[in-house]
Amino acid sequence: MSAFLPARGIDRWTACPGSAALCESVRAHDLNNWVLHNALRRDSADGYDDSVRVLVRDCVDRAQRHVQAGAVIRSRLVAPPLPIGQITGEDGACDACDLLLIADYAGVLQCDVIDVGASEATLELHALAAVLQFGLLSEFAQVNCVSMMQGQPPSIWARTPADLYVIGARVTQAAALPLALRGETGALSHLTPGAHCESCAARAKCPAVQIGADLV
Ligand code: SF4
Repeated sequence: MSAFLPARGIDRWTACPGSAALCESVRAHDLNNWVLHNALRRDSADGYDDSVRVLVRDCVDRAQRHVQAGAVIRSRLVAPPLPIGQITGEDGACDACDLLLIADYAGVLQCDVIDVGASEATLELHALAAVLQFGLLSEFAQVNCVSMMQGQPPSIWARTPADLYVIGARVTQAAALPLALRGETGALSHLTPGAHCESCAARAKCPAVQIGADLV
C-alpha cells in the first residue's frame, strides 16, 4: 500500500497541505520506481525502455565503482521498504527508494541512497529512513543522497546522520497538518497552487487549479 505522505511527494505536501488528502484516491503509480526495482531484481534491464535501461546501467556502474574503490558492499542491489512513517507520523508507512548501497571502507561505513529524478527533500527523507532502518547495526559516517538523471552527472548531497535527524524533525512538524486533513473536507481550504502542482495526481480535479485557470 502506498504511503499517504510519500517521500516523492514531500515538496508538494509541505507546500500544499491539503494535496495529500485530495491525491489519496487518485495517486499515480510511480512507474520509474517499479521499472527500476524490477530491472535490478533481474540484474538486467533487457526489455525495458531505452531511457530506463541507461539509468539502471548508471546505478549498477555506481555500485561497481564502490567495489573497485576497495569497499565491501553489504547490501544487495535492492530497493528495500524504508520506514518513513517514523518520520512523517503516518503509522506504519513505508516507501522504497530506487537503490540502496551500504559500503564498508576499512571499517568506515557509508550509505548511498539513490533515486531517479528525485528532489533533495525526497532523498533526505529516504536517507533518514535508511539510517533508522539500518543504523542500529551500522553506524554510518556519511549518507550520500544521489539523484540520477538521464544524460546528466548525478546530483549528490552528502549528509551525516546528525544532519538527517535535524531535517527529520522539520519534516515531522510539516507533516502534521497534511495528516490531520486526511479524509477531511477541510483539506480543500488548505490547497496552495504552485510549481509543485506539476507532479500532483489530483491536478485534473483540483478546485484550486480550476479556479486559477478560470481567472486566466
Ligand atoms: S493541484 Fe496543486 S493546489 Fe491542487 S492539490 Fe495538487 S498541489 Fe495542491
